[in-house]
Amino acid sequence: MIVPRIFSGMQPSGELHIGNWLGALRQWVELARADTHETIFCVVDAHAITVDYTPSEMRSRVLETAICYLAAGLDPQRSAIFVQSDVRQHTELAWYLASCTQMGELQRMTQFKDKAEQHKNNVNAALFTYPVLMAADVLVYKATLVPVGDDQVQHLELARDVARRFNQRFGEIFPEPTPRLSKAPRIMGLDGAAKMSKTKGNTIALSDAPDVVWNKLKRAFTDPQRLRRTDPGRPEVCNIFTMHQAITPPETVAQIDRDCRSAAIGCGDCKKIFFDNVMNELGPIQERMRAWSAQPDEVRAILRDGAERCRAIAESTMSEVRQCMGLGAGA
Ligand code: SF4
Repeated sequence: MIVPRIFSGMQPSGELHIGNWLGALRQWVELARADTHETIFCVVDAHAITVDYTPSEMRSRVLETAICYLAAGLDPQRSAIFVQSDVRQHTELAWYLASCTQMGELQRMTQFKDKAEQHKNNVNAALFTYPVLMAADVLVYKATLVPVGDDQVQHLELARDVARRFNQRFGEIFPEPTPRLSKAPRIMGLDGAAKMSKTKGNTIALSDAPDVVWNKLKRAFTDPQRLRRTDPGRPEVCNIFTMHQAITPPETVAQIDRDCRSAAIGCGDCKKIFFDNVMNELGPIQERMRAWSAQPDEVRAILRDGAERCRAIAESTMSEVRQCMGLGAGA
């Protein structure tokens, strides 16, 4: 029987930012509260080792990321929250699925090409097979719905292809997971040059104090052709406007659109409206971050409990997989 189930995960980049929240976390919370599916949310540490990292910092990054999940509003009673490497069935299944994945498919992955370019000195085999592990993350729970950002759609398509190929060869084990694209528009960094990312230093962190947020916003990139206050602006090319669309009430967004084009509003005033709205949302998240940060043992217990629940589901899938692939000595 296929249980309607949602799986999603994020790398342990430590403290998350509003791009992570608007693009993923906020949607996860809504999906979990809707109660239409079982929900599983993972901190994908095994994916994070595909680029250089400092082992002594990894566990604190994992903990910080889990704290952000909880502070954003995920409820561990309702959703399983756990760390990927605590459920070894993910990596076991990844190896088996690799036998159903073609080299050419992996070579076509745009994220691999981008990352190989960024990390020229460490283009390792795990970076290359990253999408196979992602397929295993999803398929080991027979997840039916996977919330993803647009940069992960290609990986999920590969997971669907691999599931189909596995099923044709070994028997119907896996449902083909459906992507659920984030409704939030793609949030760029405050420099306007690239996607918001901690490594690029162009973020508003979920924990940033109001004065820090305002100082970052004051310097944030807008429409490059709007040099003077009297110049009409183009909201469609402005990242502040994109962020307004994710947070500000639609009628205010429509007003900003008109006022920007007619130069009735300056960028400073426009940023101030965004600042007020974003701080309204971040305030309660920051309060919960402080509360969870003060009880790390409780957070670790939640992760252990989540891993236990997930291990049971994953092991049930793996017994079927080993059986139909003819692996192991058998009973
Ligand atoms: S007024 Fe707002 S939307 Fe228009 S360019 Fe300035 S910051 Fe962007």
